[in-house]
Amino acid sequence: MKVAIAIGAHPDDIEFGMAGTLLMLRRAGWEIHYLNVANGSCGSRQHSAAKLVAMRRREARAAARVLGGHWHPSLVTDLEILYELKTLRRLAAVLRAVKPTIILTQSPEDYMEDHTNTCRLVVTAAFSLGMANFRTVPVRPAIDVEVTLYHALPHGLRDGLRRRIVPGAFVNTTPVHATKLAALAEHKSQQDWLDVSQGMNSYLKTMDAMSREVGRLSRRFTHAEGWRRHSHLGFSASGTDPLRSALGKDCLVNRRYEASLG
Ligand SMILES: [Zn+2]
Repeated sequence: MKVAIAIGAHPDDIEFGMAGTLLMLRRAGWEIHYLNVANGSCGSRQHSAAKLVAMRRREARAAARVLGGHWHPSLVTDLEILYELKTLRRLAAVLRAVKPTIILTQSPEDYMEDHTNTCRLVVTAAFSLGMANFRTVPVRPAIDVEVTLYHALPHGLRDGLRRRIVPGAFVNTTPVHATKLAALAEHKSQQDWLDVSQGMNSYLKTMDAMSREVGRLSRRFTHAEGWRRHSHLGFSASGTDPLRSALGKDCLVNRRYEASLG
């Protein structure tokens, strides 16, 4: 069976910008996996870290169930996603167990460092899959797999310097939008917190508006998620585009982006 994994920084990042594509892959017969690198420990002013981590773990598991994905436990606490060896070894062990051919993860440019560090960790962990001399924790043997990485759009669709990030491909998430909303709604602890900390007028509405905006950019789909495909060098021999192969006309390549690559 074909296997895809989404790796987000915090509980709800997958639901904001990756879950629609995961659901479309599941519809296409793929096995899907779900991992938040951080446990959401800082996402509230009301609860202690220990109580909040337990709540958000339950919420994330429920969201993964709604998506029909295999849930994996978080590795670190919020604001402690650092590009360092301990987390890298553990993340690489997860990937060696899952054996994905598609990895969906955060953007290399984003509004905060947990997101960009997640991206860096995932890229290196994926790069190490076939390297027998890189030790993972727990120890797992290197695997021979062709993997393709796709980067989600940053939060707010812009980088930290406010520049708009143009996607290289759009995935039609309209058929699965209701399920994507239902998965996000499982993160009940976040409703009030995001209203207070980021001025979000109900996070469900924010996600809905974001996916409509990406749909508008696609000029084809009502709801969409945007992706940029990582260079194949070091990850696969051929530079194939398995997301497009899997989703067919529900994955629209942005020709203007491709032309801009030179
Ligand atoms: Zn986040």
